[in-house]
Order: sequence, then C-alpha cells, then structure tokens
Amino acid sequence: MTSFDHEFDVVIIGSGAAALATALGAVDEGLSAVMLESSDKWGGNSNKSGGGMWLPNNPLMRRDGAGDSREDALTYLAETAKNEYRATSRERQEAFVDGVDDWVNTCEKHGISFVRAKEYADYYPELPGGKIGRALEIYPISKKKMGPYRKNMAAPAALPVMTDDVWLLTRAFTTVSGFARGVQLVFRTLRGLLTGKGVLAGIGVAFTGSLLNAAVGHGGAKLWMETEMTDLIVEDGKVVGVVANHAGRDLRIGARRGVILGSGGFDGNRAKRKELQGIEGHPSGVLTNMGVPIEAAEKHGAALELMDDAWWGASVISVNPGVEDPSFIVGERAMPYSIIVDDEGHRFANEAESYVDLGHHMLAHKKDGRWWMIAEKRHRRYLRNYLLAPGVKQKLSEQGSYFEADSIEELAEKLDMKPEVLRATVDRFNGFARSGVDGDFGRGNSAYDRYYSDPTVKPNPNLGPLEKPPFDAVEFVIGDLGTKGGVVTDEHARVLREDGSVIEGLYASGNCSASVMGHTYPGPGSTLGPAVVFGLIAARHIAKATKPSSLEKA
Ligand SMILES: Cc1cc2nc3c(=O)[nH]c(=O)nc-3n(C[C@H](O)[C@H](O)[C@H](O)COP(=O)(O)OP(=O)(O)OC[C@H]3O[C@@H](n4cnc5c(N)ncnc54)[C@H](O)[C@@H]3O)c2cc1C
Repeated sequence: MTSFDHEFDVVIIGSGAAALATALGAVDEGLSAVMLESSDKWGGNSNKSGGGMWLPNNPLMRRDGAGDSREDALTYLAETAKNEYRATSRERQEAFVDGVDDWVNTCEKHGISFVRAKEYADYYPELPGGKIGRALEIYPISKKKMGPYRKNMAAPAALPVMTDDVWLLTRAFTTVSGFARGVQLVFRTLRGLLTGKGVLAGIGVAFTGSLLNAAVGHGGAKLWMETEMTDLIVEDGKVVGVVANHAGRDLRIGARRGVILGSGGFDGNRAKRKELQGIEGHPSGVLTNMGVPIEAAEKHGAALELMDDAWWGASVISVNPGVEDPSFIVGERAMPYSIIVDDEGHRFANEAESYVDLGHHMLAHKKDGRWWMIAEKRHRRYLRNYLLAPGVKQKLSEQGSYFEADSIEELAEKLDMKPEVLRATVDRFNGFARSGVDGDFGRGNSAYDRYYSDPTVKPNPNLGPLEKPPFDAVEFVIGDLGTKGGVVTDEHARVLREDGSVIEGLYASGNCSASVMGHTYPGPGSTLGPAVVFGLIAARHIAKATKPSSLEKA
C-alpha cells in the first residue's frame, strides 16, 4: 500500500475552468477536494479569458423562449466539430449537450448568476442547427468576493465589462447602440462604487472568481498554490494519487476517489509546439501551461489526440521582448476600412471569420511569414483595443511593428513590400467594398462576420474602402488562446488508453484533454463550455462510481 503525505477524495490539477468546475462538483457531492496550482497566480487562461461559455440548449435560452433543442445542438456539432476523432465522438458530444443543464443548475444552486450573450452568433450560424445567443457568462462581481485570492490572479486587471459590451463598444463612436452601451458601462462601474462593492470585475475574472468563491470560499475545496504536479501514482493499474513539488519538496498526495487533470494545454512549451505544431506559438494565456500533466499521463499509457492544433487567432505582436503577451484580436479586424495581408501585400482570407479559422488560414498560407493589418483613417473611430495601453503605439513603432504613411505606396515601402502589389490588393478590395461583395473571401456574408461590423457602412458593414490617409499598418502574429490537444477522454471524462480501455481513477477536462470540438470553434465560448461541463461530469462520475468516504477533516 502506498503511503501519502496528504489524502483527499479528489485531487484536481490546476485552478482554471476545468479544475474549478470539478471542485464545485466535488463540493456539491460532499467530497473533499484539493486543487494543486503550479503557479503563484491562480486561474490560468480561464481567469484571463472573456469568460464566455458556449452552452447550447441551456436553461436561460428556454426561459427566454430562444428556441434551441438537443437535436439542433447535436446536428450543429456534427456539422462543425464533426465526429472524426475519439475526442469528437457522438457519445462525447451527447454528454456535453446533456451536461449543460446540470452545469447551469448546479452553479445557480451555489449562488452564481448567469447572463446570456443574446446577440452573439454561433460561428457558422447558417449551417444546420446553427443559432444566435447560445453563450452564457457570469454577471460581473465585486472583487471582494474572491477574498485574499483577488490579489494573486493570473489576469493583470479586471474590468466590469460583459461579452455583448465588446462588439457594441467597438462602434461606440459610430452608432447609437454602441454609444448607449458605453454609457451603460459607466453606470455599471458607478453602481459598483456607490454600493460599496468597488469596481466590479467582469468576463474571465467574474467567471473564475464566482466559481472560486462557490468551490473554495465556504470551507469547501482547498487551493494549494505553487504546487506543481509532476507525476501520477499508479497502483495495480489504477491512479491513486499524484506527486507534486512544493517549495523544492516532493509531496505524495493520495486521491481516494479520483484524480482529475485540469491543467491546461502546453501553450508555453515552445519546443513541444515547434515539434508538433510547426511554430513556437504566441500564446495569450499563461506560460505555466507547460503540458507536464499531459506527459505524465502519456507515460502511464494515456492516448493523445489533436496535439497539432490550438485555439488559434490573429494577434498583435507582443511589445514585451522575452515575455509573450500578444493582443488577441477579435473585433477590430472585422471592421470596415481595414484588411490583413501577408508580407508580400496579398490578402489570403476573410478577415472577419472566426479566429480559429483565420489562424488555420495563416498557418496554411505561410507558417513563418509576417502579417500586417492595414487600415485607413476611418478605422480609427472604432475602439482599437490593441493601441489603448499607454505607450504601446510608441513601443510597436520602435520595434518596427507599427507604421503610418500618407499613401498606400509609401506604407508598402516602409513594410518592404512592392508598392504595386499592395496597391493592386487595396484597389481590388476597394472595388469589393463599393459593390458590397467580397469576391475573393466572402467577408461580411455570415451573420457571424457582422457581429463585429458597422451597420452605418453600406452596402456591406464589414467592408469599407481604404482611400483616406493617414494609413497605418500593425504587425500580426499567429497567436492563440491555448492549445487544444491532450489526453483522450470518454463521455464520463475518464482518460483512455490507445486500446480504448479506461485508466481507472484518472479523469481530464479542458485544454489538457483533446477537445470535443475537434479542429474547429463552433460558437463563442467553445473552450470554456466543454471545460466546465466535462469538469462537472468528472465529479459526478467520481461520486457515483466510487464508494462514499468520509469528508476530509484536515
Ligand atoms: C485572453 C483570452 C480570452 C479568452 N476568452 C475565452 C472565452 O471567452 N471563451 C472561451 O471559451 N475561451 C476563451 N479563452 C480560452 C480559454 O480561456 C481556455 O481555453 C481555458 O481557460 C482553458 O481552461 P483550462 O481549465 O483547461 O486551463 P487553464 O485555465 O489555463 O488552467 C490551467 C492551470 O493549470 C496550471 N498548471 C499547469 N500545469 C500544472 C501542473 N503540472 N501542476 C499544477 N498546475 C498546473 C496552470 O498554471 C493554470 O493555472 C480565452 C483565452 C485567453 C487567453
């Protein structure tokens, strides 16, 4: 019999969405649980995120009469994520869709309030089963709710914004609805201050902070920081605990009922990414996601899938040399009066398409090229988040990643492109902008493209000619929100071997597991939705499949 330094019913690795969902599930089931977090900051990518969860056929949609169904959700998943991998099996997609109600109801039971992003379209809304308004997020919270943990979050800052604010704020200076949303945001901020709650925290901080409060805040699960899981402890083919390093010392932590990996992907592991994905990556998430738990599970027989893929997206290059912190671009590239070109000056994709599709197109076009978003004067009236931080424009200019010019030809010269090539690209695009039809890449055809657009621009709200100086160019890289390959799990979130057998006692959810979404991103929140649903499914399965034990007294 193995001896342990500590023992819990459930040992959870990480402190992001997947880990917090399992911790909440464990508390809900009356199980003792510990989350082990390698970093000195909790929350991982989930804490830095937009906090949106794609949860089709969810109870809030039913309450609103928004019209969704299990069948539509599964049809849409089969169309988009497809059923090509073990990770994307019909059984797993059914488990995900069927697990949505338990997730929402459990959170509400523990005092968490959701809001529906009613206007946010699925990323392929025109495909069978596609809808608008399937994503949920958690309403902004007072940072005080996080107790002492508010001081060591992964996110550098927290604003009181919500998902549907973002697209409206992008056009705050061109539309009445955008301006009204800016005013609402000011009132939300003031309300927090006047009611003594302080500046409210929204998106990823509201999401993880609420879960942390529910799972840990009332004497429930434990969270041990700076405790890195390095290996699994296996007895007679069953996982019974983990080895974790804390302050230079190896601890053996026993799991009476199960171990769940919620340790994110291998975003910061440059060597592994180069080997498996062909580029070192420009992650917007935390660099402590190194993939150690994925490697440990593989060593003990776990099958892996989708290791060549990530939640890609075009990002403005980082201005912090040595520290990856690129600015992930969602809305600005879809707005009129701008295009994205390669280092020769050619367009290569629909700039307004989903970030994962754009990332795939960048990779397929040129793995090691440079990329530029070219825009003209009128693009400056939109909220350009990537230039908001003080001094960032100056730093981008100094490192040769931002240029301004009075003509397209002058800009091309600054970018080392042939002026006639960029001129021809811009002339062709301007023709599309005037006719309203992007004959090359169909920008603006989908309701998804038009979520970020300017309805005052006619005939196509995503297209606008580049003709008014000054013009500018900002450098893009192939960024990501995390990797999406990892251990293969079944519909109960149990880790599987190559031969399909279950590794008893071992579960996984989130980016350390191969995604149920396959190579795609069906709708807003397609990483956090499955991470929390499968995290909770793991806790429910652990509770049901193993014998009850007494609560941890420690
Ligand atoms: C800026 C940004 C915005 C995003 N917005 C959205 C969004 O709105 N909707 C959406 O669906 N997705 C979004 N994403 C993606 C989403 O945040 C991630 O896919 C998701 O957070 C992954 O959750 P996770 O629980 O798997 O991992 P994470 O949240 O990354 O947590 C993993 C944790 O495990 C820890 N860890 C790693 N290795 C070990 C180890 N060996 N021992 C102990 N701990 C370890 C890490 O330090 C980390 O804290 C966004 C990402 C970013 C960066």
